[in-house]
Amino acid sequence: MAKRLFFGLELPASAREALAAADPQLKNVRWVKAEKLHLTLSFPGEVEPEQEGALHEALAAVRVPPFFLPIRGVGTFGGSKPSVLWAGVGKGHPHLFGLHKHLQDAVLRAGLQPDLRPFHPHVTLARIRDVSAEVLRPFLRKHAETEFGMWEVQEFVLYSSRLSSEGSEYTVELRCGLQ
Ligand code: ATP
Ligand code: MG
Repeated sequence: MAKRLFFGLELPASAREALAAADPQLKNVRWVKAEKLHLTLSFPGEVEPEQEGALHEALAAVRVPPFFLPIRGVGTFGGSKPSVLWAGVGKGHPHLFGLHKHLQDAVLRAGLQPDLRPFHPHVTLARIRDVSAEVLRPFLRKHAETEFGMWEVQEFVLYSSRLSSEGSEYTVELRCGLQ
């Protein structure tokens, strides 16, 4: 059976706790559970078992050293109708962008099509529905410069995601150490 796959970084426990504690508990702002917080690197999507094997093999060519990443600041996607509230990772980070590119290449080598939109690294904190930008402004101000943690990224993870009426459920399919 096909799986819905994506590559991501698993956040350290300390950062997950800090981000969970920042929940402003606003109406229609659905906070992501601490254990599910992650940073998506590449989204191949629906993958058949044979292609999943090819994808695992293609990962042998991913060569990026471990690197440090801050979790800093917050923002929204969706402009005046925000749909996602996220935490950022600061600017720069050539190794993060390198890892993104290597994984996109691996997905292509496996004969799959990655999402080719520009990479805006972020950690989704909440899904939002019918909340004006104004209501979110105090939260965005408060955490504009907040550092939720400094993180040494030593591995990336291949997750599968199962969608259900209770939301998505992630399973770790593979952990790959950076070197
Ligand atoms: P839900 O869809 O139930 O809100 P979710 O978005 O966490 O939950 P998935 O849709 O399976 O679950 O997505 C898994 C991860 O891949 C998430 O980080 C999501 O933002 C990301 N993702 C989903 N679709 C795409 C896409 N087309 N391009 C890039 N990333 C995607
Ligand atoms: Mg989704």
